[in-house]
Amino acid sequence: MYNLRLLRQLRYSSVICNSTPPLRFLASQHKRRPQLGVVKSNQLEQLKANFFDSRNELNDDEWQSLRHTLIDSYKYIDAHNVDAYIIGLCGGAEQLQLAKSYVKFLKDQGKQPNGATLGRLLRVYSAAHGTRTLSDAEQSEILSICDTLRGAHDVLDATSCEHLIHGLVATKQHWQQAVPLLEMMKLTSSPTIAAYSVLAAKAFCVGDTELAWRLLEEMLTLRKLPKCEVYISLLDYIAENSSKLCTQLERLLRFLEHHDILISAKVGTRLLALAQQQPKHLQVTATRLERMGRCANCEQHLERVAISDAQFEQLRDSFLEKVLVGQDVFQKSTPEEVARFKQHVEQSAPYDCVIDGLNVAYSTGVKKPPEQLAKLLATVVRYFKERRKRVLVLGRQHMRNWSKQAMHYVHSNASVFFTNNLSQDDPFLLYATLRSGQETDFFSRDLMRSHAFLLGNELKPIFRRWQQEHQYSLVTQTQTGKIIVKEPIRYRLSVHQVGNVWHVPCCESYTPQMPESFEVPQRWLCLNIVK
Ligand SMILES: [Zn+2]
Repeated sequence: MYNLRLLRQLRYSSVICNSTPPLRFLASQHKRRPQLGVVKSNQLEQLKANFFDSRNELNDDEWQSLRHTLIDSYKYIDAHNVDAYIIGLCGGAEQLQLAKSYVKFLKDQGKQPNGATLGRLLRVYSAAHGTRTLSDAEQSEILSICDTLRGAHDVLDATSCEHLIHGLVATKQHWQQAVPLLEMMKLTSSPTIAAYSVLAAKAFCVGDTELAWRLLEEMLTLRKLPKCEVYISLLDYIAENSSKLCTQLERLLRFLEHHDILISAKVGTRLLALAQQQPKHLQVTATRLERMGRCANCEQHLERVAISDAQFEQLRDSFLEKVLVGQDVFQKSTPEEVARFKQHVEQSAPYDCVIDGLNVAYSTGVKKPPEQLAKLLATVVRYFKERRKRVLVLGRQHMRNWSKQAMHYVHSNASVFFTNNLSQDDPFLLYATLRSGQETDFFSRDLMRSHAFLLGNELKPIFRRWQQEHQYSLVTQTQTGKIIVKEPIRYRLSVHQVGNVWHVPCCESYTPQMPESFEVPQRWLCLNIVK
């Protein structure tokens, strides 16, 4: 009875407090994109905690009351979607019995659970599978639900496919039926990271490594980063099959290297544990980098990030040809301006560094007075002047009106080219830098994402290495006017091998986005596969 009383209180408070911040937030969130089972609010959390914790079933009155409460309290929950919401609410690994109790309640009431409800139920089976092996009876239940869902339509929508994939990989004998469902997902959308990851993890788990690797390569083609569970599944498989350690672990390391992927600390911990399980075949030590990229464990220096002469030529030619001409990146400039700029570069190159003047000046804020902006630019020019570097400063016509004294310093100590006020700066910057030669650096905070993207899959990693080796940027300016400059990192920051030793950078936790900036990871693993 306590629970029923709480429900009534919740329903009452929901109605009278309809404009309280949690509900309003929830409403606006779901106006944009209603999502089953991700309802978040203090009230729902309270409801879950008080109703579902330590319970395997509710009686009919309690379920009925819960349905009414949700429908009455939330305008986007109605008779059609409330069942899926309720299964979503009891979606934890320990709540499978509770979810099944609700479906039984529906059937006892003469209602057939709809596709969304059954789909959510499969996710609860999947959550339970994450913590234990499901019984034969539970696996049969999954198959029965999958048959019902597949029987309803010839082609399922992507969300239903994803639910089925999660259900099927929780079975021992029938998980391969998930493979065509991943293909079916592609008919209506790009398969999600979760769908790819759960299937690849299963494939590693049962030793179908070729399927797993095919899925991983496909993910990276789509710029989707595999979840930690995939790598952990592979490492679990290797732990059980030491004869595969060398080939599969090397394949993993080369995959991480090729795609510039950082593993999470969680995967790093699993690798350390694997070395303890297989000490004859694998040595792994947690390490950090000392000055100049020296490993504190093996004392070797990481490989230089510099690309080869041939790679530089390929990058330069492709950039000048495909990106500048083919994609018309100079579109905001006039042909006369581009011609004038090219002539300027031909006459005054090579430079040691090309500075994006406006980007530098605005580094510490765009609303500063012009005098301050000009002084900051002059300070950056002085930074290179003191190092006897020859620089090109790119600017815009309106910068001619900035403080005469500071701009006079810039003109006296650098080659200067002003574009018209609407031109894009990056194409000019990259053109002058690449045209100037392999040793030339550039100064800008811009991450150059779109330019890297335009170069395509093959050249993008080469562009990224070139960018890492040559990009300077301004970190900050102190109150005394001193500038803190971020210098390029000249050694590799991705997984790679030095001699027989692999160095593996780790990040704190998984994120679905690839990092765009260049930061030295705090944690590394020094790894040796004993052959
Ligand atoms: Zn080392």
